[in-house]
Amino acid sequence: MYWEKDLETLPREELYELQKQRLQKTIQNAMRTPFYRRLFTREGINPEKIKTPEDLRYIPFTTKEDLRQGFPFDFLAVPLEEIVRLHSSSGTTGTPTVIYHTKDDLDRWTNQVARCLYMVGVRKNDIFQNMMSYGLFTGGLGMHYGAERIGALTIPIGAGNSKRQIWFLKHFKSTVIHIIPSYALLLSTIIRGEGLDPRRDFNLRIILLGAEPHSEETRRRIEDIYGAKAYNSYGLSEMNGPGGAFECLYQNGMHIWEDYYIVEIVNPDTLEPCPPGEPGEIVLTTIFRDATPILRYRTRDVAALIDEPCPCGRTHRRITRIQGRTDDMFIFRGVNIFPMQVEKVLMNIPEVGTNYRIVLERKEYEDTMRVEVEIKPEFFFGDLQKLERLRERIADELRAEILVTPEVVLVEPGSLPTQEGKAQRVFDFRRL
Ligand code: AMP
Ligand code: ZN
Repeated sequence: MYWEKDLETLPREELYELQKQRLQKTIQNAMRTPFYRRLFTREGINPEKIKTPEDLRYIPFTTKEDLRQGFPFDFLAVPLEEIVRLHSSSGTTGTPTVIYHTKDDLDRWTNQVARCLYMVGVRKNDIFQNMMSYGLFTGGLGMHYGAERIGALTIPIGAGNSKRQIWFLKHFKSTVIHIIPSYALLLSTIIRGEGLDPRRDFNLRIILLGAEPHSEETRRRIEDIYGAKAYNSYGLSEMNGPGGAFECLYQNGMHIWEDYYIVEIVNPDTLEPCPPGEPGEIVLTTIFRDATPILRYRTRDVAALIDEPCPCGRTHRRITRIQGRTDDMFIFRGVNIFPMQVEKVLMNIPEVGTNYRIVLERKEYEDTMRVEVEIKPEFFFGDLQKLERLRERIADELRAEILVTPEVVLVEPGSLPTQEGKAQRVFDFRRL
């Protein structure tokens, strides 16, 4: 039941020793990157003094903004010729955050994912249909190599194209799928629309849900629809991607592999550590990666640490499912979107008035995004055909920026609710 029993069940004192060793190596490695060299000099930190996970508190946090500003190579710790792959965060806000991997990095990441998959019962004789997008997004290739390492037949079908997904599910009798939760719900309606029954006509055993927040209720619903067990898989490209934290068979929180990361949970306001059980922002330090070491990365994802031992026998601690974000990013159909991206597009269009809002809903099983935009009176009460062309133009420009096509509704000036103080732009009615 373990992929690497010794490491997965390593007594905590030994795990701590391993973390210490790997952290010290990581700090040396970080000193090869322009970013951390500058940071340590500026803050007057002696790298030799950072020896234990507790010492991390002397180092300032690293943010997504730092990664962006460090584009392209400020976080690179190895010569360029050692790099064999790069990945990037989903969504399109400005400069992407790019993470580089050496051959060894990829090998370790593959192993990390294999550990997760094995933990939930994926085996050599499984047929694994990976419904995540292949490419810069880590959910495709990241999970792919882990499944191959276990020896499962791995189908790189990628995201979308529901008819083809269904054809493969039916004809290859896939036993494991990796899928975005909102898409799992949507796909089930398409399956039924084709006259098929997800329980009777397929052979699914295991569903891996990743890339976006979802509730326990959504998980149960998906399990019920497909007649398979569904496990939560958390990750972010800055920390490799899939394999970051993963549920075991007990479905009681996600284990974080502490031989790969040092995990902290901090209060997002005070930045002080939160005790176990208290939700805060997840902060991660890579300790098993060469090309792109990142120290104390603020993920912006909110969860609580679970300190109690898990009945599965693994000693690596767990986090709860993700409860929210400390910034205003939202995830629509697996794509990370910041309201500011929508605003930027809208405010560049002269006909657009001052107010807008983004409404997210779940209709049947389909997530929808509607952008309601107030139009200046001289345009709103003018030519109807012109107004329709304006609507199409706004939709096109939004699609170019955020990569998904929202429904755009033009509304009368002054008709949207206003708030005193901080404007609420996103109204998320999807029951998570
Ligand atoms: P990316 O770097 O594009 O892979 O996006 C990573 C982000 O997706 C994370 O920081 C989370 O906000 C979100 N995410 C990924 N997996 C999960 C999950 N299982 N539950 C909730 N949010 C997730
Ligand atoms: Zn466990």
